[in-house]
Amino acid sequence: MELPRQIVVGEKNISNIGSFLIGLSRPRKISLVSGEQVRKITYNKVVRSLSESKIKNIWHLSTSNDVESAKKILADIKKDKSDLIIGIGGGRSVDIAKMVAFTLKKPFVSVPTSASHDGIASPFVSLRGDKPYSIIATAPLGVFVDIEILKKAPRRLIASGCGDLMAKVTAVRDWELARDKIGEYFGTYAANLASMSAKIVIDNSKNFKKKPDVRMIVEALISSGVAACIAGSSRPCSGAEHLFSHAVDYLESGIGLHGEKCGIGAILIAKLQGQDWKKIIRMLKDVGAPTTAKEIGLEPRILAKALTIAQSLRPERYTILSQVKMTEEKAIALAKSTGVL
Ligand SMILES: [Zn+2]
Repeated sequence: MELPRQIVVGEKNISNIGSFLIGLSRPRKISLVSGEQVRKITYNKVVRSLSESKIKNIWHLSTSNDVESAKKILADIKKDKSDLIIGIGGGRSVDIAKMVAFTLKKPFVSVPTSASHDGIASPFVSLRGDKPYSIIATAPLGVFVDIEILKKAPRRLIASGCGDLMAKVTAVRDWELARDKIGEYFGTYAANLASMSAKIVIDNSKNFKKKPDVRMIVEALISSGVAACIAGSSRPCSGAEHLFSHAVDYLESGIGLHGEKCGIGAILIAKLQGQDWKKIIRMLKDVGAPTTAKEIGLEPRILAKALTIAQSLRPERYTILSQVKMTEEKAIALAKSTGVL
């Protein structure tokens, strides 16, 4: 079991990142990966804090999350000869830094600037042009969160994070199915931790209409990432709803955010599993996340195709879609019955 050693969730604490790193592993030189916008917002405070802690640093810009750009950053960071790699940003920079750290066998620290997905603390990455699902890399040695920065991120990103949390409801059920049908290993503790992350957010979502509780959402996302660390697989966090999201990406890239697709996928899959899918819709609406295909520009044709091919992207991962012989007609009927279409 590989787990983060230290997780800090604070407010207006980005200026303390240097001392956090010293407490974590005393690095002398680090490489940072971020996007341009995030660099603009955080650069001065981070660099000042690092130099106060006498940590040399080299920044790398991530512009895309495809395999080619990740390889280029990998080649550059290799030359840095740094002790530790930090991904600071939304999904892309954290994913690239995680992959680079894994390849170079260096410790990795995650500094999320939006609560948009559960890769923040998980050992998994998905890069465009690689396998059509997340692959295992390294668990972060540390996770450092400044809620103040997350609060300023676009509301759409937080809503997307909630979509990724709703995915735990269906993912855990799929895992139970795999245990019951094919005798797959089932980790009760990891499964409960993932379920609890979703439940806490569902139970409180009524209050999100006015203002989402960013701390609660990011802590839930971190907990589900830790659940994946404990399970040693993405099982507690990713089931048929993720396969659906990956299938949409596979068929047509650029439709919606990861968590938005997973949230919509969770509605569909929950109905197939006989779970309370209306509860998922309610929660997603409370936080302003999309609950229809139209809202993310997903055409009925792509939705239907995605549901029919989803399981074939990862046949060994047993889900409800392994049991249901999904056809495009069935997919359309399912989407219509849940209001997704
Ligand atoms: Zn996800």
